[in-house]
Amino acid sequence: MRKPKIVILGAGYGGLMTVTRLQKQLGVNEADLVLVNKNDYHYETTWLHEASAGTLHHDRVRYDIREVIDTQKVEFVQATVEEIKAEENRVILSTGEIAYDYLVISLGAESETFGIKGLKEYAFSISNVNAARQLREHIEYQFATYNTEEEKKDERLSIVVGGAGFTGIEFLGELANRIPELCKEYDVDFHKVKLICVEAAPMVLPGFDPELVDYAVSYLEKKGVEFRIGTAIKEAIPGGIIVGKGEEEVEEIKAETVVWAAGVRGNSVIEKSGIEAMRGRVKVQLDLRVPGKENLFIIGDCSLIINEEINRPYPPTAQIAMQQGELCARNIAGLVRGKSELETFEFDNKGTVCSLGEDEAIGTAFGKKFYGAKASFLKKMVDNRALYMIGGPSMVFKKGKFNIF
Ligand code: FAD
Ligand code: NAD
Repeated sequence: MRKPKIVILGAGYGGLMTVTRLQKQLGVNEADLVLVNKNDYHYETTWLHEASAGTLHHDRVRYDIREVIDTQKVEFVQATVEEIKAEENRVILSTGEIAYDYLVISLGAESETFGIKGLKEYAFSISNVNAARQLREHIEYQFATYNTEEEKKDERLSIVVGGAGFTGIEFLGELANRIPELCKEYDVDFHKVKLICVEAAPMVLPGFDPELVDYAVSYLEKKGVEFRIGTAIKEAIPGGIIVGKGEEEVEEIKAETVVWAAGVRGNSVIEKSGIEAMRGRVKVQLDLRVPGKENLFIIGDCSLIINEEINRPYPPTAQIAMQQGELCARNIAGLVRGKSELETFEFDNKGTVCSLGEDEAIGTAFGKKFYGAKASFLKKMVDNRALYMIGGPSMVFKKGKFNIF
């Protein structure tokens, strides 16, 4: 009998959890496993703010995919996914095409600019290793250039971060540590540097614990961050942004570095493939399949599941992507073995920790609130756990964060 071919698209948290579980659960005679990813490396998306600020080298946030897959059981294809032809059970890749019996889409998120003018041209995003490296280099270039110019442009030393969600706040925490280093390295007066966070909602980290938010805001303010709350980015222009409070109060902020951290969407390959979605996120069944498609699973940031308690979608997180990956593998292994009843997804919320730089963080876990060094310790444990879950103890030793005391 022909073996079914299981194709997994994307080697992020969801994809690698699926493939590392499937390679354990299925024997070589039961199925062919194929993993497709744009790069030959996996990156820890949850560490990209560190690489972007320059507090952690980008090589620390990535590892070779072949280190965590069993190459006897899994064929790795380095290619960009261009389109999924779900009706025909095949995927169009930059290098050709591939047919499948079961498909897992785990292609992650992209930056969502909500059609705001100029953002694509003039703002940076924290979305992958290349984007992180470019942003780090750009900031450093502004500092390096500042003292070489006869007429000093102070806007070279201004950095605007759009969005005070978790990405914006974690990035600001890293920047707050990186800026004094850059000032020292390039003989720049620290007082000339401006770090501005623009947030459209009336509070930082909307919806998060207010006491912890106050802690984070006062910590970051002490480090030099200026918050503009209830203020939305309306447009990005060369050398700055236009912000506004409502329609009438419009202001220009001059800054050579503008970072858009104010929203994500699912991968645009989803819409290009004609799969029904809301901003690239597909409402999947609780067994993680697309309604009406017996062999198509979508997990991670490209999927959407409603949290029935509040009747709103779960936010796209690595925590959910990894839990979905485990379930997806069990369900596919079940199907391959002829099971008709699949397991359903139940999110096991282990809490949320938001770093504020190397030694500071805020978070909720085990029904408690954490801040300061304890929260920072917890955050490093969370980061190490993700390495462990996918790559085992050897990956933790290689890439783990041990600067915890
Ligand atoms: P990803 O892990 O992003 O992986 C997607 C993979 O698909 C990548 O390998 C990518 O290269 C590949 N890919 C994309 N397009 C293509 C293509 N066309 N062809 C081939 N390959 C492609 N969540 C938490 O739970 N905790 C945190 O602390 C946390 N911190 C975060 C910090 C930052 C700075 C950011 C940006 C996000 C953070 N998140 C956090 C959210 C979390 O990173 C995502 O929810 C998670 O990465 C989603 O996993 P995924 O498997 O869907 O996608
Ligand atoms: P987000 O959508 O969570 O936050 C974006 C923020 O930008 C919001 O506060 C929003 O009000 C604001 N915003 C939107 N439009 C704006 C505008 N025009 N001007 C100014 N502000 C504007 O996005 P994110 O922070 O990138 O997070 C994406 C996902 O990743 C979320 O699910 C988040 O939970 C997850 N994440 C988790 C962690 C963590 O657990 N430590 C860290 C980073 C990201």
